[in-house]
Amino acid sequence: MTTPDELDRAVAEIAEAMRRRSDRGVVANYIPELGRVDPGAFGIAVVDANGHVATAGDADTPFSIQSISKVFTLTLALGKIGDRLWNRVGREPSGSAFNSIVQLEHERGIPRNPFINAGAIAVTDAILSGHQPREALGEILRFMQFLSDDPAVSIDEAVAASEQRTGFRNAALANYMKSFGVVENPVDFTLGVYFHHCAIAMSCRQLAMAGRFLAHGGLHPSTGFPVVQPERARRINAVMLTCGHYDGSGEFAYRVGLPGKSGVGGGILAVAPGRASVTVWSPGLDDTGNSHLGRIALEMLTKRLGWSVFG
Ligand code: GLN
Repeated sequence: MTTPDELDRAVAEIAEAMRRRSDRGVVANYIPELGRVDPGAFGIAVVDANGHVATAGDADTPFSIQSISKVFTLTLALGKIGDRLWNRVGREPSGSAFNSIVQLEHERGIPRNPFINAGAIAVTDAILSGHQPREALGEILRFMQFLSDDPAVSIDEAVAASEQRTGFRNAALANYMKSFGVVENPVDFTLGVYFHHCAIAMSCRQLAMAGRFLAHGGLHPSTGFPVVQPERARRINAVMLTCGHYDGSGEFAYRVGLPGKSGVGGGILAVAPGRASVTVWSPGLDDTGNSHLGRIALEMLTKRLGWSVFG
């Protein structure tokens, strides 16, 4: 059992070690607005099973959660249509980049998993069906506010607009899936909701709070509300472990040993089942599009505390 003191010390020392490093990766700039973020930022937040929150560095600075939102849209879509979701998206690692197009033709418009862009767009489309884009987006945002116990969580409209102007690859993926009927709604509507949920801004603290249900058998600890059944929480964690870092998923499992989901904003949400929900943020990415120092920090944390799911 890790004591609150041990946790506080570990988090402070890791943040200090990360502050001193000069290898910081490269900040994503294919979404122009993301390129404006300070590459020197680093934040970490850990919420343990008793609700103790350990934070260090820029843990309260909101950043663009980007693909981390895909964990929560997957949860909502499974809640809405259940296991039928798996008819239009797979759950196998892709071994290719997050925005890859090639696999989609071979697999007749069914994306490999819900965390690559194509898969996440198909998931967003499932949430949208039967709703107006505004309602679907409202549902996603309220879910994030509820899970993080923080009604202040909001969408960064400048990031959403920036991606809307430059998201040509995502438009290609969505149009291609539309030709197979995997996307049901008007492509512009589905993409609009997708870009906006990727543009939700949250701090490490808020995201770590939001991830708690995955560490605790699907329960929202502050209310005791079952967000999902334990089996579903376990399965979402399994998909995070195998697919959460695209073609860097194997390396992440090898080094960190926890289910995790990254975003091009430089955040990573990691789940230590039964123990804690963790978020790190460092905007510079490695060549698989995952936070460079974020992964290193998580590796230090799990090694030090013995938190790997592999023992
Ligand atoms: N919104 C980003 C995109 O679609 C999300 C990618 C990511 O975070 N890996 O390109």
